[in-house]
Amino acid sequence: MAAKIAMITGITGQDGSYLSEHLLERGYEVHGLVRRSSTIERSRLKHLYNDPEVYSRKLFLHYADLDDPTTIRRIVTRVAPAEFYHLAGQSHVGLSFEIPESTCDTTAIGTLRIMEILRDQPDPPRFLHASSREIFGTPSVSPQDENTPVNPNSPYGCAKAFATQMTKIYRESHGLFFCNAICYNHESPRRGENFVTRKVTLAAARIAAGQQESVSLGDLDACRDWGYAKDFVNAMWLMLQQSQPDDYVLATGVSHSIRELLEIAFSRVSLRWNEHVNVDDRFKRPADPYQLLGDPSHAESQLEWKRSVDFQQLIELMVDSDIERIQRQKH
Ligand code: NAP
Repeated sequence: MAAKIAMITGITGQDGSYLSEHLLERGYEVHGLVRRSSTIERSRLKHLYNDPEVYSRKLFLHYADLDDPTTIRRIVTRVAPAEFYHLAGQSHVGLSFEIPESTCDTTAIGTLRIMEILRDQPDPPRFLHASSREIFGTPSVSPQDENTPVNPNSPYGCAKAFATQMTKIYRESHGLFFCNAICYNHESPRRGENFVTRKVTLAAARIAAGQQESVSLGDLDACRDWGYAKDFVNAMWLMLQQSQPDDYVLATGVSHSIRELLEIAFSRVSLRWNEHVNVDDRFKRPADPYQLLGDPSHAESQLEWKRSVDFQQLIELMVDSDIERIQRQKH
């Protein structure tokens, strides 16, 4: 039987790399869209890229930026994927205040361009849009679920809200199998170093190794619903295996503060966090949402989605991975 074909935008990102592994393990042929950059480092995909059994046999990369619909159309038409996972985009909320135009261009209009291309296909693939809890802004209800009013308060959230609504409109008006994964924060050893979890786990590992003395952070009382990226890509895949398309909140339903994050990360390397942390107002985010907590019941009941680690295990595995990375660099 021919392998099922999946296409992923944002394949070089945290989620894209885990999703590639997830699909390859299940026998898929995986096609990733990558944008051209001056290096071909692609560190999160290196292990797959360097495996001759995988690269160019089961995993294929194609150059296409999100603002290049002609190229994307050509690739989609040629590859004819059965499933399309749209994960690409500027993923940093704070940064979206500095670069709102490009954030909206790629995240909002870029998503619409892809949906138009898919709609035109003779056999449109099932489509997953990686939406975000930022579409809720600072919600008046907690926890939030699929019915919580959309009221974003960042350029990133606004762009995701547009793309989320359009995904719904395409599902309802054109009868397409289009779904939104409304994701709360999810982390892993592959998380970008400018996100707070990774900044903390890397700092703990470096301070323990004598490579750094302290770390500067914003509001230590800020709370987040943090899950594990590997669990989230499993849910994304499950969403496209259902008999009906739908939107799902992906979250843990448990909130933790930056203080708790620091406590776990620094304890893992036998250090006291308050001896190494500086509070710096420059890292406080505009309009920081405090009550963001997701209700994953729909995903848990419909997808039978289960999470494999809790918050403490997640942070510890991130610290352990950063320690290993530092040790590898030394040798
Ligand atoms: P990530 O690690 O930052 O990866 C983003 C991906 O998008 C990278 O592959 C990046 O390519 C690609 N990309 C960015 N701009 C592009 C452009 N103009 N053209 C083509 N590719 C472009 O993000 P992630 O954590 O995997 O998140 C995946 C998706 O989920 C994102 O849409 C994010 O907004 C959403 N999401 C994530 C979270 C979370 O907690 N992780 C929560 C809610 C929603 P390069 O490698 O070339 O930069």
